[in-house]
Amino acid sequence: MTSKSIPVYADHAATTPLMPEALDAMLPWLKEGFGNPSSLHSFGREAHKAVEEARATIAECIGAKPEEIFFTSGGTESDNWALKGVMREVRDLGRNRLAVSTIEHHAVLNAAQELVQEGFIVDTIDVRTDGWAKAQSLSNALHPETGLVSIQLANNEIGTIQRIADFARITHRSHAFFHTDAVQAVGHIHVDVRELGVDLLSASAHKFNGPKGVGFLYMKKGTHIRSVQQGGMQELGMRAGTENVPGIVGMSMALKRNVENLAANELHVRQLADKLRDGIRSIYPQAVFHGHHRDRLPGIVSVAIPGHPAEGMLHILDMKGIAVSIGAACNSKVTAISHVLKAIGLSDELASCTLRISFGLDNSAKDVETILNAFRIIKRTDGSS
Ligand SMILES: *Cc1c(COP(=O)(O)O)cnc(C)c1O
Repeated sequence: MTSKSIPVYADHAATTPLMPEALDAMLPWLKEGFGNPSSLHSFGREAHKAVEEARATIAECIGAKPEEIFFTSGGTESDNWALKGVMREVRDLGRNRLAVSTIEHHAVLNAAQELVQEGFIVDTIDVRTDGWAKAQSLSNALHPETGLVSIQLANNEIGTIQRIADFARITHRSHAFFHTDAVQAVGHIHVDVRELGVDLLSASAHKFNGPKGVGFLYMKKGTHIRSVQQGGMQELGMRAGTENVPGIVGMSMALKRNVENLAANELHVRQLADKLRDGIRSIYPQAVFHGHHRDRLPGIVSVAIPGHPAEGMLHILDMKGIAVSIGAACNSKVTAISHVLKAIGLSDELASCTLRISFGLDNSAKDVETILNAFRIIKRTDGSS
């Protein structure tokens, strides 16, 4: 990074910085508290206690019971487990179909594709141009053989928040299970598994100021699911492998703090996003904003600036120390049009001009000014409108 300007990180949908309190909570478990939670001596007992306290804290944050929280290595594992674990378990009951929305994260889409290899049938649920999944499309996708429906709570590219409670209700009429990938929502907006009525919910710590490589899967008691990883008896025998004790402790601290300050945090990032939208509109009157106009994550701005390919924009901003994204982070290395932007009906032209700017707790109004100034300079130097 050059010393010319103070860097601005505006890519919080890709990952977030670790909250200092989460780091502090983790340190003892990286040092003297190194015990294996499965060990029977005092080192083990202390680590075990820390894991169980974290489980109770996390459960409380999302309205679940502690025994319904299962620790994983992150959002990807939670999504894979939900899809594969449920479908392999319910196949014997004659349920060999699952339904997923077209704008799911690749962790869901590719897990579903893997299940096709195992002989399962995948039905897709379409979305409107604002990203809302169509209830009619869900109804059409439900068959007597459907075992699971997976619709994300909030989209990682355009920020649209789905009407999950409605979809879970519709799904349950077919006696299928309902999973939601809530990775972008947990710690950012109010999430309560009872209110949502979901059977399974995925979350990942690094998306809410926790450490990377740790997450959880909420499983409502009574959900038909099997383990997808065999080994020891950790996590009630459902997820083998020595627990990531520091990660789990850091995740619970990050979630607890974010939930405690939810309203203020939401307001903070919403104000930054609104300010950015207003600024972009005045610089580029032709800018097109994506996502639902009301039901969207407070901190994500997804915008196409026609005539300005996003890749070029990203690199110019990067040279100025401003970190943003084009589509999803996992897409950024391949120059393919994002499946999400395609699914909401954007032309290839508009999709390729789409930037995702996502704010977090560490951003300030000054950062928005820095970004807007960069846009002003880009506009002036390339002489286009
Ligand atoms: C980041 C993300 C994931 C993957 O989570 P990891 O912890 O990075 O594996 C899954 N779903 C959504 C919506 C995400 O944003």
